[in-house]
Amino acid sequence: MKTYKCLFFDLDRTLWDVETNQREAQRILYEKYGLERYCPGFDAYFDAYLEINDRLWLGYRDGTVTREYLRNHRFTELLGRFGVRNLKLAIRLGNDYIRLAPTFRNLMPHARETVEYLYGRGYPMDIVTNGFDEVQHVKLANCGLGRFFRHVICSEKAGANKPDPRIFRYALRKAGVGAGEALMIGDDPENDMEGAIGAGIDTVYYHPTGTPHGLGVTWEIRDLSRLREIL
Ligand SMILES: [Mg+2]
Repeated sequence: MKTYKCLFFDLDRTLWDVETNQREAQRILYEKYGLERYCPGFDAYFDAYLEINDRLWLGYRDGTVTREYLRNHRFTELLGRFGVRNLKLAIRLGNDYIRLAPTFRNLMPHARETVEYLYGRGYPMDIVTNGFDEVQHVKLANCGLGRFFRHVICSEKAGANKPDPRIFRYALRKAGVGAGEALMIGDDPENDMEGAIGAGIDTVYYHPTGTPHGLGVTWEIRDLSRLREIL
């Protein structure tokens, strides 16, 4: 089996449980700001948030939405869904959310023990993420995984978002390894898999649902603990 000199991990939805953590954070904001006055229920509020947030993140990745727009506008639009036009409230929600969400610590199944195992095996590991630099550092510190990773490669520093090969080349330079010596582990078929493949990096597709796809990945796993069989 090939020996890799560096492992690149995606963070959101690969190690950090985005769905659970953002639901918990939004629940607190919903109650703090009495949003039940405007919304038919938390689930309707949260579903609307997910739809708006996912769309804006796609725009951010593709360069059609700026970071500031993403941070501020998602709550303006969310409140607008429920007929509320209150820019002050939207900005307070946006700022609170950015502070609060990364403090939640739920991880994907077997993330912690797998990262500890790989660290124990001596693999140098870096995070490669499209998330905001300061947010991703807070998440890693809070969930206790920070010490296992040497670098957090964010699109802001690399000058490009995944799946652009430039962010992977930047990560390779930081790690001091060639493309053939690194392995990218991630959940996103386009950002992580196609991106890494485009940069000549081997891939592990973390794909819990196991639904069919046409990606030419090196390995596919439905559970992170399977990495022990590969590495
Ligand atoms: Mg991800």
